[in-house]
Amino acid sequence: MKIVVLKFGGTSVGTIEKIKKVAQIIGSYRKKKYKIIVVSSAMSGVTNELIRKSYAISKNFSDSEYDTLLSTGEQVACSLIAGRLIHNGFKSRSWLAWQLPILTSGNYKNSRIYHVNKNKILNYIHKGGIPIITGFQGINQNQRITTIGRGGSDASAIMIAKFFKAHRCIIYTDVEGVYTTDPNKLNKAKKIKIISYEEMLEMASLGAKVMQPVSIQDARLNRINVEVKSSFKKSSGTLITKRTNIISNKIITGISSTQNDSKVSLIGVRDKPGVAASIFKPLSKNSINVDMVVQNISANGKETDLTFTIKTEDLKKTKKIIENNKNIKFRKLFLKKDVAKISIIGVGMVTTPGVTFRMFQTLANKKINIQVISTSEIKISVLIDKKDTKKP
Ligand code: ADP
Ligand code: ASP
Ligand code: MG
Repeated sequence: MKIVVLKFGGTSVGTIEKIKKVAQIIGSYRKKKYKIIVVSSAMSGVTNELIRKSYAISKNFSDSEYDTLLSTGEQVACSLIAGRLIHNGFKSRSWLAWQLPILTSGNYKNSRIYHVNKNKILNYIHKGGIPIITGFQGINQNQRITTIGRGGSDASAIMIAKFFKAHRCIIYTDVEGVYTTDPNKLNKAKKIKIISYEEMLEMASLGAKVMQPVSIQDARLNRINVEVKSSFKKSSGTLITKRTNIISNKIITGISSTQNDSKVSLIGVRDKPGVAASIFKPLSKNSINVDMVVQNISANGKETDLTFTIKTEDLKKTKKIIENNKNIKFRKLFLKKDVAKISIIGVGMVTTPGVTFRMFQTLANKKINIQVISTSEIKISVLIDKKDTKKP
């Protein structure tokens, strides 16, 4: 039996008309003699609206209630899809994650799926049904509803594909596939036909929100080929797969940029062993993700400067934590909002010298100042002023 997992993002189910279109796409797979499992996100904008409501109720809204609240968006979308399929003459029903169940571990707001119970769904499929499963949610050991991080229904689809050993996993979205950069920002962006997990993971982590980073990690660990295509336009999409499946001579696969980064600089930090650990330990304890880090060599052997980036929403918390940290001494603390990380990504960089130089030279020609640099085997990232990201 060939199972296909079809995932629809919020943009694909954003209106009643779009949901009707989605139901048609789902029906077309029945004609192809596939057993179908559908995973859906909430209608676009709904999750953000629910977050606003939680904030209006309390600035310290409980994490477990936050997950219960946010999970409702997916329930609405799934029952509307199922309702339309029934209207079209199919046997279909919605399945909330707890009804399978989909089991998660970890903290509320950011849990990870570790098991998907197959029995009820297999039974339902064998009886000719098309199950519409809520993405983005699961339940934990305490039988409470959890969510798995923003954009998480991508990961739900991939984990469902894994547990059901699906033949195909297709992510339907509002663009025709993965592009060299965000096609909604730059119309010169080109569609990528095939991309490795490693490159897609870097692109997703560095701002290409078309796929959620965790979902790519899950796909890579489980060797699941993922297709990304459009819900609105009939065209070939992008295949995300393992490196050895790709014959390509491109050096750079994609470019991405982040929007909400901030830079933190500690000037004149007393330089002694363990100082970086003393700075970062309380940040990590408070779930603050530190990204690019640079430490200058201290000129006099006593003091050093340390710069790192965080998400802007963590800026206030970070300032407080650093100012209250009794284990470190420094002269000044500088905080800067409105910085952006620009990255170029490509496995071809490993074997091609001079890419770094060319990137830096291009930025210099445009008089764009580089504030921080970080590199890995397959990417180079630089931190620049946000206003410079739009320079042609
Ligand atoms: P969905 O609702 O289907 O989950 P998302 O809004 O999460 O869709 O992701 C799709 C969006 O990702 C696109 O509309 C596009 O603006 C954005 N995007 C950012 N970078 C890229 C990229 N490199 N390729 C394609 N889309 C991208
Ligand atoms: N509805 C959730 C969100 O907005 C999950 C998703 O879109 O994948 O983050
Ligand atoms: Mg998404």
